[in-house]
Amino acid sequence: MQLLTLQLAPGSGYATTYYDFRADRSGPAAMIISGVHGNETASIAAAQQLVKQLKRGELQLMKGRLVIVPLVNQQAYRRKVRGRPDLNRQFPRQSGSEGRNGLARAVFRLARQVSPSWFLDLHEANGLSQLSSRVLGQTLITNPRSPAIPAVQRQIRKVNAAIPNRNHHFNRRLHELPGSARTAAARLLRAKAVTVETCWSLSRASRIRYQKKIVRGFLQEAGLLK
Ligand SMILES: [Zn+2]
Repeated sequence: MQLLTLQLAPGSGYATTYYDFRADRSGPAAMIISGVHGNETASIAAAQQLVKQLKRGELQLMKGRLVIVPLVNQQAYRRKVRGRPDLNRQFPRQSGSEGRNGLARAVFRLARQVSPSWFLDLHEANGLSQLSSRVLGQTLITNPRSPAIPAVQRQIRKVNAAIPNRNHHFNRRLHELPGSARTAAARLLRAKAVTVETCWSLSRASRIRYQKKIVRGFLQEAGLLK
């Protein structure tokens, strides 16, 4: 396996490191981004830990390419805020468009170049979806009619089977969100695009564990991990 450690938007005020893992065998590409919102720290930690595990060989890329941007919004992260304007509304809404925001543009230019079959965007949210249909904590979100839906169902079943407290179970949401990274990747790149949302009120260790388990599950679906 080959690893390139690179800078996204080098020289800009929002330059951030990303990792480009290439397996010896050719195969599909997957892209993972995290920290689009600077205060969703368990999702950022999960992406960083996955990078470490791949570097150490604890996880092995079987084939294809995996690009991880663990901390998209450095500036918001440093200030421990979600970030304004909401970066997850700044991604391009139609083909030919680049998006309005420099950072979203840089992320999406990379996504266009990678052309991933799978695109995972890691987030955190308020509330428990099991208790209210109006909150996004503990959900996997994809677009209506997404080809990712069967895999989302399988991952939800798998992760929930290991969560004894039913209130903490994950649920599926189908939602078209123009300007979000997920909807941009689904509509403009035809990627199987999923947003992972853990609930802020759970322990940090559990949130990181859920994020990592779900990401590994999707990478297995993609054939990139065993
Ligand atoms: Zn978020």
